[in-house]
Amino acid sequence: MAIPGFGAKAQKKLKHSRVVVLGVGGVGGAAALYLAAAGVGSLVLVDRDEVELTNLNRQVLFSTIDLGRPKAEAGAKRLRSLDPELEVEAVVLDAEEDDLVLLIEGADFVLNCFDENIDRLAANRVCISLAVPASYGFAQDFSGEVFTVLPQLSACLACALDETFPEPEVTPVVGVATGIIGVAMAAAALRSLTGIGDVNAGQRLIYDLAFSELIRIPVPRNPRCPVCGR
Ligand SMILES: [Zn+2]
Repeated sequence: MAIPGFGAKAQKKLKHSRVVVLGVGGVGGAAALYLAAAGVGSLVLVDRDEVELTNLNRQVLFSTIDLGRPKAEAGAKRLRSLDPELEVEAVVLDAEEDDLVLLIEGADFVLNCFDENIDRLAANRVCISLAVPASYGFAQDFSGEVFTVLPQLSACLACALDETFPEPEVTPVVGVATGIIGVAMAAAALRSLTGIGDVNAGQRLIYDLAFSELIRIPVPRNPRCPVCGR
């Protein structure tokens, strides 16, 4: 509250905000930790998977005692231990589009951290149809990307993402890359929820951590986009 321009007003907005985190891995887990610590009042953690040993190089929400437990439940427990007053809901589900509608309706912001394009684009369709702002992000090797969407004001994920782009089966990543991308997405959520700064909607923000570079690529709206086009 002591930060100039932030104050009690922004802090109250965060307390009354509900953020849905889709995919609680390295990126979503880091984002959720920082949003909880920043005072976001209500978080929904959605993930179908369980914690595995090979996750722990990057998934800082979990530790070895969580091995074999559903990520959404282990993550919710960790966040409650950080702030017992936090409202946190764990959803262990391979979320279909109908489920996403129920989860996202009434949310103030969505962190789209799913790791497959089919799921990322389903979440994008739901966010556009319900007019909920969202930030999408992923990390790979020593780099990553954040793309934030303000429905009908910026390009959406379908305008930016080539659906036919081949996806690797395994995506090796250095833990700091998922951490930086998760924290950058949390920062985008805080900017959107409080109105402070610029959410950089419709810009691909590409972080190259090997050379400490941030590359911005503006994405124009596609007037024929099947999701957000007129
Ligand atoms: Zn679009």
